[in-house]
Amino acid sequence: MSEYICPHCKKPTYDDENTLCLYCGEALPRRIGAMGRIKNLRPSIIIAIIVTLVLLCFIVAALKIQ
Ligand SMILES: [Zn+2]
Repeated sequence: MSEYICPHCKKPTYDDENTLCLYCGEALPRRIGAMGRIKNLRPSIIIAIIVTLVLLCFIVAALKIQ
């Protein structure tokens, strides 16, 4: 948790999950911290795992047919 001052209304936002200011609704220019990078990476990692699993299923199915 870290305090982040809204550039529009100058009020602090404490929630790292928020991309919008709680007070004025303006989009917060998100700082690119370590946590932000992990959150941005997570969807692509999940997609990569799903694609790998699907490919493995196809390989196993192809081997069983032969
Ligand atoms: Zn604000």
